[in-house]
Amino acid sequence: MKVVALAGGVGGAKLVNGLSRILPFDNLSVIVNTGDDFRYSGLYICPDIDTITYTLAGLNNPITGWGRKDETWKVNEERETWGYPSWFHLGDKDLALHMERSRLIEEGYSLTEITRYFSKNFHISQTILPMTDSIVRTMINTRELGKLAFQEYFVKHKFQPRLTSIELDGIQTARISTEVEAELQSCDLVIICPSNPFVSIYPIISIPGIKRILNDKTIIAVSPIIGGKAVKGPAAKMFEELGMASSSYNVAKFYRGLIQGFILDRADETEVHLIDQWGIISMATDTLMSDLDSQIRLAKQVIKFGSTLAKGNEA
Ligand code: GDP
Ligand code: CA
Repeated sequence: MKVVALAGGVGGAKLVNGLSRILPFDNLSVIVNTGDDFRYSGLYICPDIDTITYTLAGLNNPITGWGRKDETWKVNEERETWGYPSWFHLGDKDLALHMERSRLIEEGYSLTEITRYFSKNFHISQTILPMTDSIVRTMINTRELGKLAFQEYFVKHKFQPRLTSIELDGIQTARISTEVEAELQSCDLVIICPSNPFVSIYPIISIPGIKRILNDKTIIAVSPIIGGKAVKGPAAKMFEELGMASSSYNVAKFYRGLIQGFILDRADETEVHLIDQWGIISMATDTLMSDLDSQIRLAKQVIKFGSTLAKGNEA
């Protein structure tokens, strides 16, 4: 069974890592959010692609959730002595990758080609694809500071400003890549990872043309909300600021019309019957992935659940 996962950074990478351990490598492709991409210090940075890439390469820092393990910080430290306002910390090895990506972008290579090149260098066998080669930028409109680029909101301001709305700059003219289109057309199951629905998954499903392809697919989503809270990051806060309770129920509601199956945590089991009312088949299980074993355990359940739904759709 050929699987495509839609993912942001940390939450996405954990499930993708589990999936990578149980599926043949050529049966797993990951379409990754690029709405967080930005230029910093003259470098082209793709936070979510890098988290997925480092994770599949076994080089990620599991403590921070970003960057590489066994990292050194010499360049960053040196620049700080000059008073450089470094709100975005870049380790030395991480920096090398951003420098190389920036050079290749300048030479005219597409992000899809560059991502493939890094995957190959890190001996990753699965396919990692940016959601598009067009420039799409997630902008956060806030009460206190107006419109902020996503990384400014997320890292510089530690997602403290209150959100009023989310905009995707460049989305109208963004184009689906032939690679994304081909992977989606040929897959049997699409898995929406437990990534932030608003800023990790929404940009991907907003690429013009992608919904038309997704309409013919079996799609399941895994909730990033456990017991009303986000495991990490601003998802719960975003739900509340957008006027909704932070719950798996509202995650399922967000994906209503797109998904046939939904996996939520046992802590939210009471929401199953509410979600089922919409014709979405839901399943409660343990969804906290604190180590490799729990990533693999959840991945196995996701595949089992997804296969049953995909077979049902074929019949
Ligand atoms: P980001 O781009 O790095 O912010 O990462 P994602 O959007 O992919 O993931 C962030 C989401 O992952 C948050 O909403 C978390 O609640 C969720 N998340 C992180 N770890 C886990 C986990 O172990 N289980 C579940 N169910 N969700 C998780
Ligand atoms: Ca992200």
